Amino acid sequence: MSIAFLNDSYIPITEAKISPLDRGFLFGDGIYEVIPSYQGKLLGFKAHIDRMLDGLSGIGLKLNWSHSDWQDMCEKLAVQNGNGNLGIYLQVSRGADIKRYHAFPEAVSPTVFGFTFDIPSPPVADKNRAKSYTVSTSEDLRWQRCHIKSTALLGNVLHFQEGYDQGNDETLLYNKRNELTEASACNAFIVKDGVVITPPLGNQLLPGITRNMLVDILRKDGSINVEERVVTMEEVRGADEVWITSSTKEIGAVVSVDDAPVGDGKIGDVWLAAQALFSSHKYDY
Ligand code: PLP
Repeated sequence: MSIAFLNDSYIPITEAKISPLDRGFLFGDGIYEVIPSYQGKLLGFKAHIDRMLDGLSGIGLKLNWSHSDWQDMCEKLAVQNGNGNLGIYLQVSRGADIKRYHAFPEAVSPTVFGFTFDIPSPPVADKNRAKSYTVSTSEDLRWQRCHIKSTALLGNVLHFQEGYDQGNDETLLYNKRNELTEASACNAFIVKDGVVITPPLGNQLLPGITRNMLVDILRKDGSINVEERVVTMEEVRGADEVWITSSTKEIGAVVSVDDAPVGDGKIGDVWLAAQALFSSHKYDY
């Protein structure tokens, strides 16, 4: 039985109950995180909590939890759920009022929820063992605050479903200027002539922890050039490699975009080098 944290106790997930008046349920009024934990070792913990605190302050949700409070909860959840390969899901919503009213309620305590789910072993830098991905593309019709990791994910869900319905693993999104933003649940990269390129941070995309770690690891190593700049969809279609990144996937090599092969349609050499560097340095963060 999986064990969850709700407000102040650790309980079996089937016993966790939240009011239907919770603003997370009524308005998607909350912030969440997913932190990988491999055999009890948290990956990118500080960066994930920093992003969650930024999100909470960005939506004016006050919660007096320190990094060590979150760490204690994550470690307890990992232990109580068997310390395997786990995604630790954390969510804070603005809490349950006694009415449905848009303005932030006063004197309502936030709802704090955490649970774990099984995730695969992290990818290894081996072209024969790595999963490859296929993607669709679609105009990004989400909101203009994509840098906030909001629980209001309907826009992302609808975009993910578009790709899924076409038999693909993800959907790459582009804005009205035909510029790549990210994917429905991942950040996106292209590789052209050996240079790794990803769209710049801003309100059009989530500041992905994997994205940021990867850019930093590649820059520190110096053997592969990295650019953060606007990427057009023409560049995506002409790229030698396309990658999607997320905490549970790490670097996912995309082998087809809208059914057209990326490069030679196989996992690329720059992916191999980048995943090897990422695997060596990911616990430095
Ligand atoms: N972009 C979106 C929209 C996401 O939902 C996610 C992960 O959930 C990411 C990017 C990747 O972020 P991270 O690397 O922090 O998991």
